[in-house]
Amino acid sequence: MKDTLKHRGMRKNLAEVVAAKGITDQKVLDAIKTIPRHLFLDSSFEDHAYQDKAFPIGADQTISQPYTVAFQTELLKVGPNAKILEIGTGSGYQTAVLLHLRAKVYTIERQSELFKTTRLFFNKMHYRPKKVIFGDGYKGLPQEAPFDGIIVTAGAPEVPRALLSQLKIGGRLVIPVGVDEQIMTLFVRKSEKEFEKKEFGSFRFVPLLEDKN
Ligand code: SAH
Repeated sequence: MKDTLKHRGMRKNLAEVVAAKGITDQKVLDAIKTIPRHLFLDSSFEDHAYQDKAFPIGADQTISQPYTVAFQTELLKVGPNAKILEIGTGSGYQTAVLLHLRAKVYTIERQSELFKTTRLFFNKMHYRPKKVIFGDGYKGLPQEAPFDGIIVTAGAPEVPRALLSQLKIGGRLVIPVGVDEQIMTLFVRKSEKEFEKKEFGSFRFVPLLEDKN
C-alpha cells in the first residue's frame, strides 16, 4: 500500500485527461489529483489505475471510469457539509471523491464481500463516511433522509421512487437510467411534488439490482 511520486505524477496527468474531456469543477479535478486510485484496485491492475478506464474489482463489479465519477460528481454540485447518499459503494473510490469535497456521506452496497472489504479499506485509509451500509439501495435510507444529493453508481432500469422522495427541496439525484446503456439523468426537487429532469450523455454501468424480498 504505497503512494509514490510516480503515482502522483500519473494522477496529475489523469486529472488533465478528465479536464480535457470537459470537466471544469476544480474541486472535482483536485479530488482526482489527490486520491490514490491505485489503492482501490487489485494490485495486479495497479498499472492501469491512472488510465481513464473502468476496471473489475471482484464479485462481477467494477470501479467506475474516472471521467464518469467526475461527471456524476460535478452534476451533484456538492457543497461543504452536504448530506449525500451514495448507492453502490463498490471499491469506495466515488465515496472518497465525495469525502474530499467535505460531504457527509452515507453509502450503501448490496454485495456482501465488497461491503466487507471496502468497509475495512475505509478504516485502513482513515476515510470516514458517516455510514457504510449493507443493504438494498433501491429503498434509499429513509431513516437518514432528506438528502442534499443522491448519487447512484449502477445502471437503474427505472428510477426508484424512494430515492426521489428522500431528496430535500432543491436536492439533486444523479442516476444513470437504462438497461443495456444508460442515460445520465439529473432530477432536481423543485417542491414537494415537482421535479425538474435533465438528461445528459450515454454511459455504461453494471446493473442496479433490486432485492426481491
Ligand atoms: N461507486 C463504485 C462503483 C461500483 S459499481 C466505485 O467507485 O467503485 C456499482 C456497485 O453498485 C456495485 O458494487 C454493485 O454491487 C452495487 N449495487 C448494485 N445494485 C445495488 C443496490 N440495489 N443497492 C446497493 N448497491 C448496489
